[in-house]
Amino acid sequence: MLEKFERYPLTFGPTPIEELKSLSAHLGGDVAVYAKREDCNSGLAFGGNKIRKLEYIVPDAIASGADTLVSIGGVQSNHTRQVAAVAAKIGFKCRLVQESWVPHEDVVYDRVGNILMSRVMGADVEMIDEGFDIGIRESWENALKDVEAKGGKPYPIPAGASVHKYGGLGFVGFAEEVRSQEAELGFKFDYIIVCTVTGSTHAGMLVGFAADGRERKVIGIDASGTPAQTKAQVLDIAQKTAKLVELDKDLVEDDVVLIEDYAYPAYGVPSEETKDAIRLCARLEGMMTDPVYEGKSMQGLMDLVKRGYFPKGSKILYAHLGGVPAINGYGYAFRNG
Ligand SMILES: *Cc1c(COP(=O)(O)O)cnc(C)c1O
Repeated sequence: MLEKFERYPLTFGPTPIEELKSLSAHLGGDVAVYAKREDCNSGLAFGGNKIRKLEYIVPDAIASGADTLVSIGGVQSNHTRQVAAVAAKIGFKCRLVQESWVPHEDVVYDRVGNILMSRVMGADVEMIDEGFDIGIRESWENALKDVEAKGGKPYPIPAGASVHKYGGLGFVGFAEEVRSQEAELGFKFDYIIVCTVTGSTHAGMLVGFAADGRERKVIGIDASGTPAQTKAQVLDIAQKTAKLVELDKDLVEDDVVLIEDYAYPAYGVPSEETKDAIRLCARLEGMMTDPVYEGKSMQGLMDLVKRGYFPKGSKILYAHLGGVPAINGYGYAFRNG
């Protein structure tokens, strides 16, 4: 589906799929849980799902003649850290707008983890006191104008690399990769679990898995806390991406399965249940998840299994999208483990 699009390799190649046997047994043994390790996909500053998206965006950035990648996220954004790493790798400058999306007050929150790495990698980091919103922001438009005013040539990458014309392509590729791995494994996954916020990860998967009729088997776990906006954005990106790759099927609202029950109390703030899920997964599998995204989708996965959402015998693929560096900003929450 992606042959006609240029891809700039930034990942190690196909990401491994591993069975989480202890977790599956702990959850009762009626379903088998596997993880696809997007968190280990690249040597670029710990990698993650935005690197896979950026592989299809970088050729356009280079062709545009730009010299500066400009993007936006929260203070502990994984996305902006991955943009900073990619900018360093391809010889671009990087301008990042970091907004106060998370009502969180750990003393070192703005000094560790993702933002620490972005600064070390040479990004120009600007802190802005604005709240959470996955839409296009004035602060970001101002940064673009400022880069130009200073003689640079900005290339805009929106939050999460999502509402970019090529933002959905990377995870179309994820679905194709899963299909070829399934051929080797000798079975197909019945469900794919994905954490959803700005939407292009989920949207790309919808398009990719629609090719073999599995679009409604992609189960999004909302971590935005603004699920109506997130769901609309997933559908919009999926429809645009479907057109781009010439999918011979129309995607409709009901194809976007987004479970809203685990984003509480707010974007970026882990509930007690999220923290318990992070600990349980870490203790059973040595697999770390973060308090903003993957801890919430892990909580969702565990809870849905316990509630019998998945028929007995199901094989479930948990897409581990990265994000662990942010846990450094939550030292107080995990001070006792
Ligand atoms: C960005 C991100 C997500 C959400 O992906 P979207 O494409 O923004 O919906 C999930 N997990 C991690 C670790 C992320 O960095």
